[in-house]
Amino acid sequence: MCGIVGYIGTKKAKPILIEGLNKLEYRGYDSAGFTILEKEHFKTLKNKGRVKELSDLANQENLEGSVGIAHTRWATHGKPSSTNSHPHNDNSNTFSVVHNGIIENYHELRKFLSENGYHFLSETDTEVIPNLIHYYFSQEENRTEKSFLRSC
Ligand code: GLU
Repeated sequence: MCGIVGYIGTKKAKPILIEGLNKLEYRGYDSAGFTILEKEHFKTLKNKGRVKELSDLANQENLEGSVGIAHTRWATHGKPSSTNSHPHNDNSNTFSVVHNGIIENYHELRKFLSENGYHFLSETDTEVIPNLIHYYFSQEENRTEKSFLRSC
């Protein structure tokens, strides 16, 4: 179980995400985090502990972005720690993911991705998701590029 918040709009995302996490903290409270899109780059801030601690950290950051995702965790795979907290980003920092639940086949997916050059920072099942998205996204980009070159 966990709490998930997302925001896209015209206001600053940070206070809205923190407010959402405060409301959802009963769903998971071993750690909390968010990713905000700041001028085309991800700013991911995450921490073991309660939303209040994340909020204190976030207060030290001037974040203007108006798109973001956030999560309060109830660990199933990997101990409560800052590294295991969500969001999890892919190796290229292109995809950021928060997740509720369990990925039953994450061992197989992690092995497959490792064999394809991906590395993992956390002990969670979740971290395979952004990297798997990146894997298929890159495959599609390569296909599109090749068919573009063929048509030139
Ligand atoms: N299985 C994920 C993890 O352990 C998600 C847990 C949750 O739903 O909070 O990180």
